[in-house]
Amino acid sequence: MTVRLMIPGPVPLSESVAEAMAAPVQAHYGPAWVSIHNETLQLLRQAFVTEGDVFILVGSGSAGLDAAIGNLLAPGDAALVGVNGYFGQRLAAIARAYGAHVVEVAAEWGEPLAPDAFEDALQNNPSASVIVVTHIETSTGVLNPVRQIAQIANAHAVPIIVDGISSLGGVEFAMDGWGIDICVTASQKCLGGPAGLAPVAVGPKAWAAIEKRGNAGHGWYLNLQTWREFARSQKDWHPYPITMPTNAILALREGVRALLTEGIAHRIGRYKTLAGRLRSGLEYLGFRPLAADAHAAPVVTAAYSLPGVPSGRIVEFLERVHGLEIAGGGLGHLHDKIFRVGHMAPSISERDIDDVLAGLEDFKCQVGEG
Ligand SMILES: *Cc1c(COP(=O)(O)O)cnc(C)c1O
Repeated sequence: MTVRLMIPGPVPLSESVAEAMAAPVQAHYGPAWVSIHNETLQLLRQAFVTEGDVFILVGSGSAGLDAAIGNLLAPGDAALVGVNGYFGQRLAAIARAYGAHVVEVAAEWGEPLAPDAFEDALQNNPSASVIVVTHIETSTGVLNPVRQIAQIANAHAVPIIVDGISSLGGVEFAMDGWGIDICVTASQKCLGGPAGLAPVAVGPKAWAAIEKRGNAGHGWYLNLQTWREFARSQKDWHPYPITMPTNAILALREGVRALLTEGIAHRIGRYKTLAGRLRSGLEYLGFRPLAADAHAAPVVTAAYSLPGVPSGRIVEFLERVHGLEIAGGGLGHLHDKIFRVGHMAPSISERDIDDVLAGLEDFKCQVGEG
């Protein structure tokens, strides 16, 4: 039995994306390739809704986070980091790794970040250099109020970095319109591509902050100034510092094209409807979603297992009996208490959702609760 992948990334590849992965290898420089590269950047600008710079860093999404956070921080700087789950903790870990003084602006796992808490944190830390938040906290399925947090950041003229790895293309976002300074995403989630690329959008206020900070201590490969320098000086021949994985980029181009062809608003609406279907089905079956309706992410849903039943058993059962691979999850007090269903694949359909619900119903019967 082949397993249907319904984890919160990577997503299964559509046929056109998979074909692009299998296309003959081509040189990663010269006019023919540069035109494909530029087209991909232009498509990504539409997905970020920005007219600013976009770079396709080569590495997983975390490489993009490392570049964004590291470029805006010097050792000793204060960084306000939203932490309401595992990926918020990662943002804090990256900032600490660059020697920043991290002020965690925390919320309970399963709850959204509170914009007011950022206002307070800025009052208490007026010299903060940056605010860093996840848009969707993938570990809990919570959608954070990034637009409101950005308003506060903008009012205090503090740059804001958004981890949009699991959200770009899955939920409303407008880099320029919302005043976001850097947004990082990844190829393997809502954009429908293979893992390995980290598109990063960088706005003018971020550049100003990066230039002010100078170029100390951030190495070369994940230094955004390296990428900008090549984009300018090697514009027509090799506008990036390294050998680009051309097939992965062709595949990402197909993924983003499909998003724009469908229409971002249409895609988002489809995710929302399917998330609602999943949530009401879960509640009907007695699996309580972790996030309340008002801040539920439309592309990943975390729910509690049945009382006394480790969630790992559900994950194992769905895979073994129903050929559906969902994710476990839960660190700390949530360990083995929740499971997570990824529904961020562009191909997601009612049938996928209904099959997960049928599998869960079957599981309940097996444990004698049906
Ligand atoms: C998946 C994810 C990451 C990690 O991305 P990698 O590609 O594994 O480095 C970071 N943040 C969020 C919100 C994610 O969903």
